Amino acid sequence: GSATGNGVLVNIMRLDKFLSDATAYSRREIKGLVKKGIVSVNGKTASSCDMHVSGEMTVSVNGEFISYRKYIYLMLNKPQGYLSSTEDKRDPVVVDLVPEQWRHFKVFPVGRLDKDTEGLLLLTNDGQFDHNLMSPRKNLFKRYFARLDSPAEAVDIDIFRAGMELEDFTAKPARLEICSDPHEVYIEIAEGKFHQVKRMCAKVGKNVVFLKRVAIGDLKLDDTLAVGEIRELTAKEMQILGYEA
Ligand code: URA
Repeated sequence: GSATGNGVLVNIMRLDKFLSDATAYSRREIKGLVKKGIVSVNGKTASSCDMHVSGEMTVSVNGEFISYRKYIYLMLNKPQGYLSSTEDKRDPVVVDLVPEQWRHFKVFPVGRLDKDTEGLLLLTNDGQFDHNLMSPRKNLFKRYFARLDSPAEAVDIDIFRAGMELEDFTAKPARLEICSDPHEVYIEIAEGKFHQVKRMCAKVGKNVVFLKRVAIGDLKLDDTLAVGEIRELTAKEMQILGYEA
């Protein structure tokens, strides 16, 4: 059996699979709970882990109903100093910031931000979501706020718009907006190549001294989310990304 979507169990599956997807219990712990007789299916004590459950059935542990879910979608306001990966020998990684309640979902970052870049980073355990969002065909613009060591000039806008030649590829047309303090700019790029924003700025003679991603497509970073905080994407935000809740 398999399941899709959020909170909806589509096909039948083993009871222990259901519980290990939907809760923080390990398979081993689930076995123990069933043995103890505190897992119920449709109000009756479950007899064994290999019984099957379907979408119409209710499952409870210790009297508490468990709704099925396999995937989770999180928004992080990434702090500086964290690598966009799941583990590293030396540096802290973004999944270290995931609160205990979501740890069992084993999320990974959708795309990457540099260690010293802040801002909008999505985390999920849904490989298809990751693939869809990062697909170049999607042509999703990523919007960044950058502070530069020297002022941006009007001519830079045209250079960004023309599609810039970098060592290993030609960037698609990008948007540069200069703030009232010209050391501050917003940049929108269609790809997400390694150090792309920094390299594009360097090409016009400016160094990025601070970088923060503020949007992916039409999904904006929640500006009430403190640096280092994580919350689930809302149904509305999933819709913005092209997913029906
Ligand atoms: N461009 C960069 O240079 N760094 C990032 O983290 C993201 C885009």
